Amino acid sequence: MRTRLSLSDYVSGILARDRLVLSRAITLVESRLESDQALARQVLEQLLPHTGKSVRVGITGVPGVGKSTFIEAFGKQLTRQGKRLAVLAVDPTSQRSGGSLLGDKTRMETLSVDPLAYIRPSPAGNSLGGVAHRTRETMLLCEAAGFDVILVETVGVGQSETLVHGMVDFFLLLMLAGAGDELQGMKRGIMELADALAITKADGDNLAAAKRAKAEYQNALHLFPPTGTGWFPPVMTCSAQTGDGIEAVWNIIQEHQTLTTRNGQRDRRRQAQNIEWLHSYIRQQLEMHFYNQPGMRERLASVEEQVRTGTLLPIQAAEILFRPA
Ligand code: GDP
Repeated sequence: MRTRLSLSDYVSGILARDRLVLSRAITLVESRLESDQALARQVLEQLLPHTGKSVRVGITGVPGVGKSTFIEAFGKQLTRQGKRLAVLAVDPTSQRSGGSLLGDKTRMETLSVDPLAYIRPSPAGNSLGGVAHRTRETMLLCEAAGFDVILVETVGVGQSETLVHGMVDFFLLLMLAGAGDELQGMKRGIMELADALAITKADGDNLAAAKRAKAEYQNALHLFPPTGTGWFPPVMTCSAQTGDGIEAVWNIIQEHQTLTTRNGQRDRRRQAQNIEWLHSYIRQQLEMHFYNQPGMRERLASVEEQVRTGTLLPIQAAEILFRPA
């Protein structure tokens, strides 16, 4: 049995960049026990002044696009420059199937043993919203622990991209050449969220196709309305295998960071994200309190039966449940 850490153990350990303490703090944030949650809130409150200094980058793309291989190459490049990198995951599949598309440490073999890198798999959860809250909190813990860059990875298969977009400064969309948008499950909406597109696997026989795809996506992006931020999302090609274009991605992120810091856009984006986080948290708490009321399960079962047989409309059923028992 591990000894319990106190509030000050957590705070001083994280500020001292102790990775074991950081991992335990993340576990605390992910815990569903009310006592753990209360302590986690205190830890976060005390660490708040030490957060906000990292570059927050989101990465998405369909399974097989090359996310983990890209993150390895990209991450090694950062750590070679002495930068400290944390990789977090938001995985919409992990809570449904038990299996996971992301967050598997073995996928990033060299990065996972790099002393300057820290990889944390996606937390389990009943809802993607809940997973996103915990990832945001984990991001703050990592910032307090002195990481320069936080990468949040997600699979481009659902609404997880929107959630990740809502917690980062820069959102990178990885795309495959030669696969139609339909095939990639990419909706126009996701392209609109992107601050840059990178066509992966631009090497060998694939290089020509990657260059064609770059031109096509560039044209497609021109048709989108301007973002109003002064930033025009570039399309790049890269190869994690040869290393071509990997550094260019980091340069683009830095350019974006410089521009948006100067014009105030980064702060405005973070402020808007915090307001959205607040509302999303309120919605989640309201729902939880509603369903966790004593006797709610039985009351729900009873009205569900009446809704099923058509003797009660769903809106009437909800009204009944909103009344005190
Ligand atoms: P993920 O599912 O998006 O994380 O994709 P992976 O990183 O696991 O890569 C999927 C497959 O694409 C693997 O077989 C990789 O070896 C391959 N791959 C990834 N990056 C490259 C690349 O830059 N060039 C080539 N030729 N293959 C790549």
